[in-house]
Amino acid sequence: MEGRKKYIGLSDSEVKASRQKHGANILTPPKKEPLWKLFLKKFEDPIIRILLIAAFLSLGISIIHNEYIETIGIFCAILLATGVSFWFEMDANKKFDVLNQVNDEDQIMVMRNGNVKQVAKKDIVVGDIVLLEIGNEVPADGELLEAVSMQIDESCLTGELSIDKTTDPEHFEEGVTYPSNWVLRGTKVINGHGVFEVHRIGDNTEFGKVAVKATEKVEGETPLNRQLDSLAKFIGVVGLILALFTFLVLVLKDVVFDPIVPMQKRQLALLAGAMLGVAVGMIKVWLPIIYGGLELLGKDSKLPKSVKEGGWLRWLLTGVLVTVAISSIGYVFGVDPLNSSSWINLDTATEILQAFMVAVTLVVVAVPEGLPMSVTLSLALSMRRMLKMNNLVRKMHAVETMGATTVICTDKTGTLTQNQMQVASTNFYGLEDQRLTDSEISRLVIGNISVNSTAFLDFSDPKKVAALGNPTEGALLLWLNNSKILYSNIRNKEAIIEQLPFSTERKFMATFVDSPKLRKKVLYVKGAPEVVLSKCKHVITTEGLVPVNEYKEKINSQLLQYQNQAMRTLGFAYQYVDDAKAAVEDLIKGELVFLGIAGISDPVRSDVPEAVQHCLSAGVGVKIVTGDTYGTAKEIGRQIGIWKDDEDTDLNIIGGVDFEKLSDEEALNRVQGLKIMCRARPTDKQRLVHLLKQKGEIVAVTGDGTNDAPALNYADVGLSMGSGTSVAKEASDITLLDDSFSSIATAVMWGRSLYKNIQRFMLFQLTINVAALLIVFLGSVFGQQLPLTVTQMLWVNLIMDTFAAGALASLPPDPNVMKTKPRKNSDFIVTPSIAKHILFTGVMFVILLLGMMYYFSGPVHLNSFFSYVAEGDRERYFLSYFFTVFVLLQFWNMFNAKAYATGKSAFAGLNKSAGFELVALIILVGQILIVTFGGDVFRTMPLTIQDWGIIIGGTSVVLWIGELVRLIRKK
Ligand code: ATP
Repeated sequence: MEGRKKYIGLSDSEVKASRQKHGANILTPPKKEPLWKLFLKKFEDPIIRILLIAAFLSLGISIIHNEYIETIGIFCAILLATGVSFWFEMDANKKFDVLNQVNDEDQIMVMRNGNVKQVAKKDIVVGDIVLLEIGNEVPADGELLEAVSMQIDESCLTGELSIDKTTDPEHFEEGVTYPSNWVLRGTKVINGHGVFEVHRIGDNTEFGKVAVKATEKVEGETPLNRQLDSLAKFIGVVGLILALFTFLVLVLKDVVFDPIVPMQKRQLALLAGAMLGVAVGMIKVWLPIIYGGLELLGKDSKLPKSVKEGGWLRWLLTGVLVTVAISSIGYVFGVDPLNSSSWINLDTATEILQAFMVAVTLVVVAVPEGLPMSVTLSLALSMRRMLKMNNLVRKMHAVETMGATTVICTDKTGTLTQNQMQVASTNFYGLEDQRLTDSEISRLVIGNISVNSTAFLDFSDPKKVAALGNPTEGALLLWLNNSKILYSNIRNKEAIIEQLPFSTERKFMATFVDSPKLRKKVLYVKGAPEVVLSKCKHVITTEGLVPVNEYKEKINSQLLQYQNQAMRTLGFAYQYVDDAKAAVEDLIKGELVFLGIAGISDPVRSDVPEAVQHCLSAGVGVKIVTGDTYGTAKEIGRQIGIWKDDEDTDLNIIGGVDFEKLSDEEALNRVQGLKIMCRARPTDKQRLVHLLKQKGEIVAVTGDGTNDAPALNYADVGLSMGSGTSVAKEASDITLLDDSFSSIATAVMWGRSLYKNIQRFMLFQLTINVAALLIVFLGSVFGQQLPLTVTQMLWVNLIMDTFAAGALASLPPDPNVMKTKPRKNSDFIVTPSIAKHILFTGVMFVILLLGMMYYFSGPVHLNSFFSYVAEGDRERYFLSYFFTVFVLLQFWNMFNAKAYATGKSAFAGLNKSAGFELVALIILVGQILIVTFGGDVFRTMPLTIQDWGIIIGGTSVVLWIGELVRLIRKK
């Protein structure tokens, strides 16, 4: 293999020119569906469809009566409801789009102006010289200039999981889809490293052409959604039964037993036929609800395909056919369907339609349409806000699962520590005073650090030279640099024959080079000291070669000293080799010469101990899983506050190898007590996660390396590091952009707050549902007038709910959620205490409202209480009053919902919830406008200012009682 060339890369002006000519390295996102199409999709909702059918039927009657008011009201309500939920959904989608933009910001190492630096993926231009490392995703298409043991995962383009890449024409593979010296955008480096020149970018890349996935996939369904789905099914069935019952009662009451015009048998027969036809025509609405109910009862029955996939039109036609068929049968028995005397009278038809509308509305009221939207909105809002806190959420479910997390298995480097590695101390036994000179041993040390490495130094800012790539190796290069030794001079001269890159499993790295300076072929090895030492026969000291055994004790005691200061330790070795063709792996047979050790310090991040404390007090366990040694890991554990010398014993710490030796049963008994796993390999990490999950824990795991992917995938929430490999990022659910543990603690807080917000919305919405359902049901069965009209219920249910969903979903996270223990993931979101709360409040509202209805049902109280209203208007005035009381009871209940589970007053932090205030205002102003100007559409008339005062003040008791309860509970 040839030696390394010195690359200069493009200059700034060349980059500019190239960008002007070829554009930026971004993929054109797939064309989005036009807005009107997305809006029309809202009408696919069966509930909205049936409302539309009802609205059109009502339009028919309106034309005959020449009275359009109520029909217009229904159409407006439908448009407004679809409009509002469409707007919220658009907003949520916009928030998800952020994900793709962040993807374009991935940092890529390039050579520019003769210097290695990092630029965003989107800023790569044609002609750039890009450096690739293991775990990187290739940012553009291009030709390899250099490739060391390079293997690429091309599965996203060709399905090939591992392809060897080389620049040596002799080794070019034939019959492969893409040439052996080409790398392609979107593919990943799974082994080795290399350098390539960019030829094609953005849409011109193979990846861009096939446009396999121009956007990050965001899966829709979350565990919470599934829970809500069964809740919706339950409510659907209850609503349907109540609706059916109400319809029957109303029809029997108004049409059969107490009709305006008495009905004849043939009219009834034809009516029954027509109704059956309507029932068949609407099968797509009610049958799924019934099947949903059966599913809840544990019956595994599948909705017939004809209903699931059959078009609406087809079923409507079938309904017409059924009516025709029944009428024909009627004809045989002497009922002539074409004779108008067999038809029911128009007023009766209007009454039936009215009963139908009430039934439809009951279903509409029962189904909590706001729920799924509230979840989507909460997730979208959390995702965007979490991004500001350095958490990039890749998979939606992660936000809520984070809230249920009981254990966090965290990496050490970067997550707990600052990832600013520095060589704190060295002990090269052949160096006098650890000084690097021109001696042979110095050259071996310098060569080992410079060439047996994949890191680079960025000299863009000469005052602050920065390390790029592997941080451990970067620290060593910086150490050389401090001694005024430029690593690249050495690296460019020594020709690499073969290289074994560092891996966490192997825990060492080896490079076989031809050194012109030493005039010999040398094998450099560096890695975990005990691993390197086990491959050595001698130690080179200032006195010459000494057998390892004689020196081991001294080395170990020095290592222990480093580790007790939380330092990462490294060992170095070399061997002169004569056999030019020998493979590295064959060379490492225990004949190496040990050069010495280095201690690398990496201070704990200052915010970590507090964040760890937050997690611990929130009942979330923290476990360190590190590749470092027992001593180093324990010291870090001590510094962050999870390791207590007086409490913890050897049962709380284990090494990867020992862990592997434990049987599953033994390991299961130990995993929950473990606090630290040292010298861990990815397989140990994966097993730990597996066993913890078996113990019923909800596990969040951090990982940055390619081989962490299985553990990340397997965990309930996988957290990758912003600086980690793209493979790890892809396998993860959340990326911590700042790599820091405190972001994990924030994510737990967000997850819990989100869950609470959804519970709050449930509390609010389900109380309305219970109250409205019972009132309309009881009112229509026992009363004369409908207590709430269809349009009124639509306002309450479709619009107010949607707004409230927005308000409660956008409440800011509450740090207090970290004071309680984690919830069980299996817990149902409507906890028994919430259910009790809903039923109690709902029933109280119903008693109050029905009591009011009863009290004013006769003229006595109506006349005396509303004496200031013109006599003929009193009933309408009372109904407006009643409607407003209903809405305002819910309005104040929204404040109680906001305060739910905070232990604080509903007014606490109100100034921080602008969204909530706005929605409260919209609902109040909306109600005033509706009552004042709603007229016939809403069956309202303007109330006096005094009455507004009485209603607002009177209903606010709901809030004051809530405040009182909260106050008592606090004490
Ligand atoms: P952490 O929890 O700190 O992220 P890790 O699991 O990433 O640790 P590894 O990278 O596997 O740990 O490192 C394990 C050991 O391997 C280190 O203690 C060190 O001795 C050695 N080591 C680390 N990086 C390199 C490297 N680039 N070359 C050679 N040896 C290394």
